[in-house]
Amino acid sequence: MDSLKNIVVLGGGFGGVHAAQRISRELQKNKLQDRYKVILVDRHTAHVFTPRIYEVAAVPEASVRADAIRNAISFPLRALLEREHIEFKEDSIIRIDPERRSVHLQSQELPYEYLILATGSETHYFDIPGIERYARPLKTIDDALSIRKAIASLKDVQDGESSHITVVGGGPTGVEVAAEIQMRNLKFQISLLDPHDRILSDFDARIADIVKEKLEKLGVHVVTRERVTRATDTALVLESGEKIYFDVLLWTGGVRANKVTNALPFRKSARGAIVVDEFARCQYAKEGSPVETHVYAIGDVAYFHDEDRDLTAPARARHAIVESEIAANHMLGEIEKAENLPVKARRSPSPYVDTPYVIPVGGKYAITKVGPFIIQGWIAHTFSHLIELNYFLSIMPFGTAIAAWFKSSLTF
Ligand SMILES: Cc1cc2nc3c(=O)[nH]c(=O)nc-3n(C[C@H](O)[C@H](O)[C@H](O)COP(=O)(O)OP(=O)(O)OC[C@H]3O[C@@H](n4cnc5c(N)ncnc54)[C@H](O)[C@@H]3O)c2cc1C
Repeated sequence: MDSLKNIVVLGGGFGGVHAAQRISRELQKNKLQDRYKVILVDRHTAHVFTPRIYEVAAVPEASVRADAIRNAISFPLRALLEREHIEFKEDSIIRIDPERRSVHLQSQELPYEYLILATGSETHYFDIPGIERYARPLKTIDDALSIRKAIASLKDVQDGESSHITVVGGGPTGVEVAAEIQMRNLKFQISLLDPHDRILSDFDARIADIVKEKLEKLGVHVVTRERVTRATDTALVLESGEKIYFDVLLWTGGVRANKVTNALPFRKSARGAIVVDEFARCQYAKEGSPVETHVYAIGDVAYFHDEDRDLTAPARARHAIVESEIAANHMLGEIEKAENLPVKARRSPSPYVDTPYVIPVGGKYAITKVGPFIIQGWIAHTFSHLIELNYFLSIMPFGTAIAAWFKSSLTF
């Protein structure tokens, strides 16, 4: 018998876990488990439910312990994968060599027949002097826990003035964290800064207007059309020359593709994401080169763009999942061809469909757009919990998903 061929998935986030589970299940159905092995690599041992991270930064230290928070929104990868016959390797990805079809991990070299890049994104500071040094990012549970520690150390009032928390970046993460911190800590002054004409510049303008009003009602000072030029340990200097003093500075101003894929010879977008074709396959940067038929990219590290309709798939959890279906479907067809099996018809979803994105704006208030309708208040907030349940059900067996959902909803 030939040795097993590896299907390697890099990254255990939203895209990677879905892709690995889907491919492994289909290989079992096709009785190909003796021919192919699915391996997922991540440097962390847990998969994190990112949509709740903003709350971690805001929840007071006295009310929930850090380990309880971690348990509520992170899920051991080994358990999620091994029940689906996927091998998990906890390791760091150092380099990928498409010519030799191998991935260099910290502890070993891993050959592959097919590779899925799903390493996500990282915080982008746009080289603004002082930002990386003085601002706190909000990308991981550790980032959020360190923000809540910094907030806990703030005095209610210093020299007669409230402590000041400044959030730079008025996308959903900035909005969510500013609102939640203000809601739970009315004693602080919170400012939210964004360089665009309005906050939530990628969302429907009606949503942005409602959210701005809601933030201002909560007491958040919203500043738009102001670009940060540098930061010191106590102040932000704006393009207008104005200075904004802070006690804690948060940076939610942007992300770029994870740099582990930087050295790959593939076409990239301005933010370093890998340009893929409609099947999620990577393309060589050199003019006239063929498509790389053994390497796919999905999620935040991929750039899906429809030139005819000028559409770009957003970097969101739901889209990472959709893109994992696209890559898995195409790869499974290729495997069936290689194994002389009938190629099953599989319909892939579109990466450009506008899926509902719920934006929580403090406590039990949230807002979302479903088709042309804007839904707000507790109904939208409840909707976000249903999305969370749906997500857990998509990666866990029924009983485990329900238990995880209750645990995450009840812990904080
Ligand atoms: C605070 C926050 C809130 C968000 N809220 C929402 C929301 O409400 N709704 C929504 O749709 N989207 C939300 N997003 C965006 C969403 O999380 C991303 O779009 C999604 O996680 C992308 O999935 P992915 O599979 O591409 O990458 P990720 O989920 O980021 O996973 C990438 C994985 O790759 C691993 N990795 C990276 N580099 C290496 C390496 N060198 N070696 C080993 N492993 C590596 C990482 O450890 C990680 O597990 C939020 C993001 C953040 C940061």
